[in-house]
Amino acid sequence: MFLKRIELQGFKSFADKTVIQFDQDITGIVGPNGCGKSNVNDAIRWVLGEQSVKSLRSGTNMSDIIFSGSEYRKPVNMARVTLVFDNSTRVFDSDFDEIEITRQILRANNEASYFINKTPCRLKDINDLVMDTGLGKDSLSIITQGNISSFADAKPEDRRSLFEEAAGVAKYKKRKKVSLSKLEQTKENLDRLQDILDELE
Ligand code: ATP
Repeated sequence: MFLKRIELQGFKSFADKTVIQFDQDITGIVGPNGCGKSNVNDAIRWVLGEQSVKSLRSGTNMSDIIFSGSEYRKPVNMARVTLVFDNSTRVFDSDFDEIEITRQILRANNEASYFINKTPCRLKDINDLVMDTGLGKDSLSIITQGNISSFADAKPEDRRSLFEEAAGVAKYKKRKKVSLSKLEQTKENLDRLQDILDELE
């Protein structure tokens, strides 16, 4: 499994549709300061479910990641980014040879839509799809500027969570948390049911 292609349109500095093709080995993105290199990295994390506008180095609303215009260009009203993964080795739990994950946002309503292979889906579906691949937005598949020094400076418990993510333990912790919260909800429902039964008796 590898990232074959990224298609950006209206995302940050990428006003026009831009397609970046990746080879299977190493791809370097070079360019002058401020040309948009880190925006490519932001775009990948955005599609993988990043919800923090701050961590995307943008304004205050998610719609701030939409191209906001320049000296020569008017702002646009929509941002859309698609990641195309090779799935010939079936790392994703899917029978398709290619997996396309798309996130889109409209300036008009600040609302995001998500698609897997062009079919509308929920963010949860994307999280579920990538959870077992080690690709999650917080995973170590993306190492940004400053990651290494923040790892060295991190508190022991924060450093432990990075090891847990790398060892694949984090996903089980997340699933345990969801299951415990469902159990708690079920217990509350049972208590309420018991109250009603007591009243009827
Ligand atoms: P450096 O080499 O200095 O780290 P870089 O190539 O990584 O720079 P980025 O940080 O990716 O550059 O891109 C910054 C550019 O993106 C700036 O010119 C900024 O104006 C532009 N930009 C960011 N958000 C938007 C937006 N919503 N609309 C238009 N342009 C944007």
